[in-house]
Amino acid sequence: MTSQNNNIIPIKKVLIANRGEIACRIIRTLSKLDIDSVALYSDADKTAQHVKLADEAVYIGASPAAESYLCADKIIDAAKRTGANAIHPGYGFLSENSGFAKTCEDNNIIFIGPPTSAIDAMGSKAAAKDIMEKADVPLVPGYHEKDQSDERLLAEATKIGYPVLLKAALGGGGKGMRLVTSADEFQENLDSCKREAIASFGDDFMLIEKYITEPRHVEIQVFCDQLGNGVYLFERDCSIQRRHQKVIEEAPAPGLSDELRKRMGDTAVKAAKSINYVGAGTFEFLMDKDGSFYFMEMNTRLQVEHPVTEKITGQDLVEWQIRAAEGHPLPCTQEDLSFNGHAIEVRVYAETPENEFLPSTGKIQYLRTPEENKHVRIDSGVTQGDEVSVYYDPMIAKLIVWDKTRSGAIHRMDKALKEFCVNGVNTNIEFLSNINSNDDFVNAKLSTHFIEHHNDSLLALKKDIDNKHYIYAALYQHMLESNNKNNSDPSLDQQSPWASVNGWSLNTTPSRVFRFNHDLVNNSEGDSQTAEKNIAVTLTFESNTIVASCRGSSIQCEAYLKDDELTVITGHAQRMYVSQFDEKITLFIDGKAYHLSAYSAEFSAEGDDDNGQLTAPMNGRIVDVFVSAGESVEPDQPLAILEAMKMEHTIRAPSGGVISEVFYAPGDLIDDGAPLLAFEAPNEKGE
Ligand code: ADP
Ligand code: ADP
Ligand code: MG
Repeated sequence: MTSQNNNIIPIKKVLIANRGEIACRIIRTLSKLDIDSVALYSDADKTAQHVKLADEAVYIGASPAAESYLCADKIIDAAKRTGANAIHPGYGFLSENSGFAKTCEDNNIIFIGPPTSAIDAMGSKAAAKDIMEKADVPLVPGYHEKDQSDERLLAEATKIGYPVLLKAALGGGGKGMRLVTSADEFQENLDSCKREAIASFGDDFMLIEKYITEPRHVEIQVFCDQLGNGVYLFERDCSIQRRHQKVIEEAPAPGLSDELRKRMGDTAVKAAKSINYVGAGTFEFLMDKDGSFYFMEMNTRLQVEHPVTEKITGQDLVEWQIRAAEGHPLPCTQEDLSFNGHAIEVRVYAETPENEFLPSTGKIQYLRTPEENKHVRIDSGVTQGDEVSVYYDPMIAKLIVWDKTRSGAIHRMDKALKEFCVNGVNTNIEFLSNINSNDDFVNAKLSTHFIEHHNDSLLALKKDIDNKHYIYAALYQHMLESNNKNNSDPSLDQQSPWASVNGWSLNTTPSRVFRFNHDLVNNSEGDSQTAEKNIAVTLTFESNTIVASCRGSSIQCEAYLKDDELTVITGHAQRMYVSQFDEKITLFIDGKAYHLSAYSAEFSAEGDDDNGQLTAPMNGRIVDVFVSAGESVEPDQPLAILEAMKMEHTIRAPSGGVISEVFYAPGDLIDDGAPLLAFEAPNEKGE
C-alpha cells in the first residue's frame, strides 16, 4: 500500500448538501472528528433536526427541492459565505451530479466523493456497462449500444429472449424500468418507459437486460484512496424490495461462501481501480440461484444502507470518506479487514401500506423509539413534533440491529420494532415486522420478489381488536384525568412517579361510562376509517380494584399509568404504550397499533347546565328524538340524535330523571348551545 501523500488538505468545515437522517448522520461523525458543520435548510426545514444539530445553518430557499437542495449555485454560495472548505452531498439530491462536483472543484471546495470523471463514467448505466465489460466484470446479458431506433431495440429484445427489462440509462430510485414479457407488448412498454424517463431524468436512452427471474440483490462496498489503493468492505444483501426499491438490507449476505465473497470483492475493487475511483462506492449485482453474479450499476456515493456494513466491520464510513477526501491513504489493507456477526436495517417510512403505500404526511404527534445500545442503532432525522412534509422522502428512520448470528439479529429486530411507536402519521412498522417474522425470511429464502410472493400475508394488518382494547382505552382516559387532578392538588404526593388507581378515591362517582370508535388509520391529516362505532365501556370502582365491562364481558383489574406507559393487571400484567392527541387514542401493544377515538359524548355528566337544560354541542340537524315530555329516563339513555359535520352524535341522559320539555323535532336545525330539551334530575331522596 502506498503510504505517503504530500498533498493532504485538512478539512476544517463541511457543508452538508442534504437534509434529514443522512445529514444528521454525517454531522455525528463531523462532531466526533471535531470538524465544524454547516447545514442547509429550506422553508419546510426551518426547525428540522439537521439544522439543530449543525454548528451553523444557511437558508437556501423554498421547500421544493428544485428551489433549494438541488440549487448548486446557492449551495456553493453558502459554502463560500460560511468558509466551508468541503461539501458532503449525502445520497440522492446532487450526490451523483458530476456538474455539481465540478463546480465545487472550480470553486476550490473539496467534494467529498469521487472525481468528476468517475461519476461521469458510472452515471449512465449504459456507459458503465461498457467500462465494466472491459474490466472483465460479468454483465446481465443485454443491449446497451447507441442505436436507439425502435426496430433495433425490438430486434435486440427478441435476441436476448423474453422476459426482458427495459431500463432508462440515467434512471435511479427504482424508476424508469419496465418488464416486457413478449414481443407484442414491446412497443407499448418502450413508449411509456421512455416517457417516464424523459419526465424523471430528462433523457430516454434505453438499455435492455435479460430479466433474471428470481435473483438476489447483492452489492459490494468498495473504498479507494487518492493513491490508487482500494479495498472492499464485504457485501450487503438488499433483496427485500418493493417496486425495485430496497426495504430491508442486511450484511453479510446469508449463505455467501468465502470464495464467492472474495471473487465478487476482488472484481469490484478491480473495476473501481479501472476508473480511478476515490472514496465510497457500491457495485450492485444480481445473483442467480447458481451463484453467478451480474453487474447492474455502480452508485458513486454513500449508500442508504451503509450502517449494516459499519455494524459488522466496526468502521465509520463517513470518517473514511473525509480522510480519503483530505488525501490520506486508506486506514488499512484488505487483509486487516474482517467482519463480525450480522446486521439488519429496515427503512421505517411514513406511508400507508393499506393504501398502496401512499406517503403519509403530517405532524408526528408521538414518537417512541427503542433504546440505542451496541445491538440497536437508529439513524433518524425527525423527532416527536416534527412534520413529514410532502416535499421530501417520507422516511422516518433507519432502524439497524446487530447480533452475533442472523437469527439473533432477527430476534433483536422483532423486539426493536415492537418498541418503535409512531402516531400522527401512518407507518410501515407492522409490515416490516411481518417480513422480519416471515418463515422464508427467517430461513433466508431471499429474492427480489419476496414481498410480491408474500404480499397477502405481509399486508394482513387487520387489527384483531376486541373488548379488552376498548377497556384499556377507557382505563387510560380515566387515569389521565385522575393524574391531572392529582397534579393540580397540592395536598397529594407530587413526587410519586406512578399514578395508580385502585378504586376511585378522588371522586365519589362509583362508575363512569366511556365510548369509543375504532379507526383503521389515524393521522394528523384527519384521515380515518371507522370500523366500529360507539362501543361503550363502563368502569366501576370498588375498594381496591376496577371492574371494567364492555359488550357483556367484564374484567377485574388494577391499572398503572406512568407517562405514556399503561400497565393493566388482571391475571397477568399487560404493558402497553399509549399516545393521545385530540380525541384520538392509540394503543401500542406488541408491535400493533390500535386506533380508537373518543365517541363524541359531549353530553356526559357535565353536559347539563344549571337550568336543567340539555344544549346542542354544535350546529347541526336533529335526526331523531326518542323521548317526550313527562317520560322518565335512565342514566346514559339515548335521548336524541344530532347530525353535525357528516357524523351522528347521540345525546344521552347525564343521569336518571324526568324530561320536562322537548324543544325540537326531527328535521329541525339547531344552533350550537341552543337548549334541546329540559330535564329534571331526581332530588336527593330520589323522589
Ligand atoms: P440506495 O441504493 O443507496 O439504497 P436508493 O435507490 O434507495 O439508494 O436511493 C437513495 C435515495 O436517493 C432515495 O432517497 C431515493 O429516493 C433517491 N434517489 C436515488 N436515485 C434517484 C433519482 N434518480 N431521482 C430521484 N431520487 C433518487
Ligand atoms: P436503480 O438505479 O433504480 O437502483 P437498478 O438497476 O439498480 O436501478 O435496479 C434496481 C432493482 O431492480 C434491482 O435491485 C433488482 O431488484 C431489479 N432489477 C434490475 N435489473 C434487473 C434484471 N435485469 N433482472 C431482474 N431484476 C432486475
Ligand atoms: Mg440500484
